[in-house]
Amino acid sequence: MEYLVLFVIGAMMGSFMGATAYRQVKKVPLFSKKRSFCDNCKTQINWYDNIPVFSYIFLSGRCRNCETQIPKRYFAIEIISGLCLALLPLSVNLVSNSNLWFSSLNTTALYILLTPLLLFSLYQFYFDSLYMYLSDFASFAMFLIGFVALSYFPNDVIWLNLFTSFVMASVFLLLHLLTSGKGMGLGDVKLALFPPLFLSTNISILWLFLSFVIGALYGLPFLLSGKKKMTAKIAFGPFMIVSFWICLVYGDKIFSILFPYL
Ligand SMILES: [Zn+2]
Repeated sequence: MEYLVLFVIGAMMGSFMGATAYRQVKKVPLFSKKRSFCDNCKTQINWYDNIPVFSYIFLSGRCRNCETQIPKRYFAIEIISGLCLALLPLSVNLVSNSNLWFSSLNTTALYILLTPLLLFSLYQFYFDSLYMYLSDFASFAMFLIGFVALSYFPNDVIWLNLFTSFVMASVFLLLHLLTSGKGMGLGDVKLALFPPLFLSTNISILWLFLSFVIGALYGLPFLLSGKKKMTAKIAFGPFMIVSFWICLVYGDKIFSILFPYL
């Protein structure tokens, strides 16, 4: 039952984030009185046709007025957000059993720390994969969450983690400069600042490595099928986000499998 509640909340957040990203890109005021409208016929969408997940299924993915197909990505955003939030208790449980510097925090503190981090992660994931754009505000917020947590809870890793954060951002800045902005954007550089605050230095290196592995695994089928060229731009932020959450939850285990003698 609690998983269902979390799924529903997640789907609603996903729906909101999809709309927010859309409005930011199309320069529609975020909190305008205008309700969401159909992209094709511009008809306002009734509240009962704007219920996450359910409405899409009920309308078979079409606008009630003009019957144009509603992009599947909106449905995907709601499902993914719902699932991620439903999986949050599992993540909190795994984090509390790992060796991260904040693992010893009680469950409530872990939820306070990880829930906003997850929501900002989802937002960056959608924003970048839909529009090839990362939000500076979200990147800064994620860094701030890590920084505040590091300075608030007694620990001795703050300087090391800040240093690693700086090094990781420098790696992305170097890639940005070497590819003259084509490989990595400045958005990726800013996004790279937050993961090392949460992960140890070892796991941060794993995070960097895994981001590229996931990116390659994602890009390979496109390259092989000839659908995308080697020079095609692929948003890198989503891979950094996915890699971060894998490292946060399973980093210890993956690291000990890859380097059993370290
Ligand atoms: Zn329509």
